[in-house]
Amino acid sequence: MAYQNSNPTGRRRRRHIRWDRVILVFGPIILLIIFLCVKCGKNENDPAGSSSLPESSIVIPTADSQPAPESAPDSAPETSEAVPSVLPVEHEYTIVIDPGHGGNDGGATNAEGTRFEKDDNLRLSLAVRDRLLQYPHVRVIMTRETDVFVELSERCKIANASGADFFVSIHRNSAKDGNGVEIWVNNNATDNSMDKLLAGYILELLDKEGISSNRGVQLGYRGSTRETVGNNYYVNRNTDMPSCLVEMGFMSSTIDNNNFDSKLDNYADAIATAIIELGTDKQIYNASAQ
Ligand SMILES: [Zn+2]
Repeated sequence: MAYQNSNPTGRRRRRHIRWDRVILVFGPIILLIIFLCVKCGKNENDPAGSSSLPESSIVIPTADSQPAPESAPDSAPETSEAVPSVLPVEHEYTIVIDPGHGGNDGGATNAEGTRFEKDDNLRLSLAVRDRLLQYPHVRVIMTRETDVFVELSERCKIANASGADFFVSIHRNSAKDGNGVEIWVNNNATDNSMDKLLAGYILELLDKEGISSNRGVQLGYRGSTRETVGNNYYVNRNTDMPSCLVEMGFMSSTIDNNNFDSKLDNYADAIATAIIELGTDKQIYNASAQ
């Protein structure tokens, strides 16, 4: 009886067993659902959720973790002071002036042998340089500035290395007779080629200053013809930029020598002005560039 009294009805016993089973069966399931919901919610808020990288491998750049300066390309320096060096460099109008001969190569002489072409060439060349340097954004390269001998190949090497816009060689003529000014260009020059335009404009302005004779722009070198391909003055043949060789009168001509001495400044002005105005006209020189 006690067994019977201590035991509730079958219905009451079934009710207690049911709650235990509910907890035992559904408890872990509910906990699992809660865990999965929390996990999913976290992933949705993760901005790097699509990334397969573990969180610890995502590097947020800081000032200390920026690339070291030495690993940056030269064209992108980090300091503001270095920025101007990577901006486009203003184009300088570069002219090579080449005083012919020099040193133990005196060039032509006057009849008495007392006057040397190399000295006249240097005087006029230095005067042209000084005129050119009065203009802004002009760079002048001299193949020599003193009485020294410079190989022709070295003169061309200087010019080509400078990336100059024009090359102008200054000489005086050596024939025993004759007078006047002539300018030589490469024999492949056409009427519209820059070297012929340069020579023509220089000669035009020299003529206005007064010369004994305008002998014109000549192709090749003395005695050559247009058909003798490759026959050119060395500096015209071996310079990369438009070039010309000015023969500023004859050393044997008293008239030319007197003109040279009395009009030196005018001649220098004429040559420099022609170079500046041609460069301006062809838009390779801009005096007002900032
Ligand atoms: Zn000469």
